[in-house]
Amino acid sequence: MSTALVWFRRDLRLTDQPALAQALAAADTVIPVYIHAPHEEGAWAPGAASRWWLHHSLAALETELRVRGSRLVLREGPALAALEALIAETGATAVFWNRLYEPAVIARDKAVKQALAERGIEAVSCNGHLLFEPWTIRNGAGDPYRVFTPFWKACTAELGTVPAPLPAPERLPAVPPAVASLGLAALGLLPKIRWDAGLAAAWLPGEAGAMATLSQFVEEAIGAYDVDRNRPDLPGSSRLSPYLHFGELSPRQALAAASVPGVGDSAGAASFVRELGWREFAHHLLFHFPHTPDEPLDARFAGLAWREDPAELEAWRRGRTGYPIVDAGMRELWATGWMHNRVRMIVASLLTKNLFAHWRHGARWFWDTLVDADLANNTLGWQWTAGCGADAAPYYRIFNPLLQAEKFDPGRAYIRRWVPELAALPDKYVHCPWQAPAEVLLAAGVRLGQDYPLPIVDPRSSRDDALRRFEGLKRPGQ
Ligand SMILES: Cc1cc2nc3c(=O)[nH]c(=O)nc-3n(C[C@H](O)[C@H](O)[C@H](O)COP(=O)(O)OP(=O)(O)OC[C@H]3O[C@@H](n4cnc5c(N)ncnc54)[C@H](O)[C@@H]3O)c2cc1C
Repeated sequence: MSTALVWFRRDLRLTDQPALAQALAAADTVIPVYIHAPHEEGAWAPGAASRWWLHHSLAALETELRVRGSRLVLREGPALAALEALIAETGATAVFWNRLYEPAVIARDKAVKQALAERGIEAVSCNGHLLFEPWTIRNGAGDPYRVFTPFWKACTAELGTVPAPLPAPERLPAVPPAVASLGLAALGLLPKIRWDAGLAAAWLPGEAGAMATLSQFVEEAIGAYDVDRNRPDLPGSSRLSPYLHFGELSPRQALAAASVPGVGDSAGAASFVRELGWREFAHHLLFHFPHTPDEPLDARFAGLAWREDPAELEAWRRGRTGYPIVDAGMRELWATGWMHNRVRMIVASLLTKNLFAHWRHGARWFWDTLVDADLANNTLGWQWTAGCGADAAPYYRIFNPLLQAEKFDPGRAYIRRWVPELAALPDKYVHCPWQAPAEVLLAAGVRLGQDYPLPIVDPRSSRDDALRRFEGLKRPGQ
């Protein structure tokens, strides 16, 4: 009788789970284990919203395992010590897991693999998190890509080789009763002050929630995704990001769902698959440029003198900047742990280009508040918007929050939902209340500076100021 451990990490699903599938093929007894070791993720241990999600996702995984005759063994880190203890207790001869790509996790996993090999334990890592391993996609010179379009062109040529998702096992071997597990509450993932009601109302963490979200998206929204994905007032995007981050859904499953006949030939489906490509690109960059969560990829930006203004930063965090589309986004984030992609770009542009605050301040706030906080995607998003990353928005692209609101929230429904103190204003002024005549403000019950702030910064002069600062940077080759 052989025994194997399956080390669950951010692959909290049973469908298309290569590590689980390989363990089941190799051993009679398979023991699913999750090891809580946030300190091993370095400076980027999961933030508060991610911990909330993780708690519920582990509970969901435990339920799915029990339905199939197994259970989840929870242990506390360090990971290597926990695995060694389990190996000693169970006589396991192999450990299976799916790879992750954060620099601290890669270093930890390498050390674990080596230590297990030295003890004669088979350590098998699989690809369950990406369509393409970051080291398999290279440009003609053999270097990693730094620009999305050629990267994605190289990937699309290989899309046909992506394996079909594996089915979930119907039954699983029982875990021997003697193998002890911590209770989920012992991991202390839930907030002590319960601010999480909004998250619970918005999300159903776990594989069942992922499948329901994917099915609904494919049935109702994917066809128009190429157009509606930019509209925060519509349910136009998939909202799959936390499920993909925690591996409750694999990118192969998302790709397969977007490729079925009748769906896959639409412009919407093609556009959705391209966004999965951005996720691949973000992981490619993080793998090849592991310093980027903390330092700009474009080294010219390292010496930039960002402004430090704690009061402005706090106003941005709290959704009190006086720019309704920005405040709507920041409040959506605080209430639900998620923000629409278009609005992420707008709030990030205001912070880094109009307020000229360091992009790391924004990345850190997102890290703590997003349920989909993901080191690869977050780093790419912030460096792209700040203009200092790979394939970045040029430094002179500064989102105008008024024009963005006019274009992408045409009926102002998004702002009205999240900034209700402006809801009674006519459409013409909801996104720019400071431009409203006094009698219009009075009629709508809005006292600017009291009920709702005046703009924190003048858009035009701050834009000119930012451009002057950016222009001081040397252009490549200078
Ligand atoms: C400043 C900033 C910070 C961001 N931080 C994160 C983050 O921490 N975690 C995160 O998952 N995404 C992040 N993004 C990317 C993007 O905003 C979210 O992935 C998207 O809004 C999630 O919503 P969705 O699932 O409905 O996306 P959809 O539009 O339905 O896209 C499908 C999937 O593709 C991936 N994807 C889409 N857009 C991007 C992108 N630009 N970069 C990388 N992957 C993408 C996501 O996994 C997403 O779930 C950030 C973007 C910006 C501008």
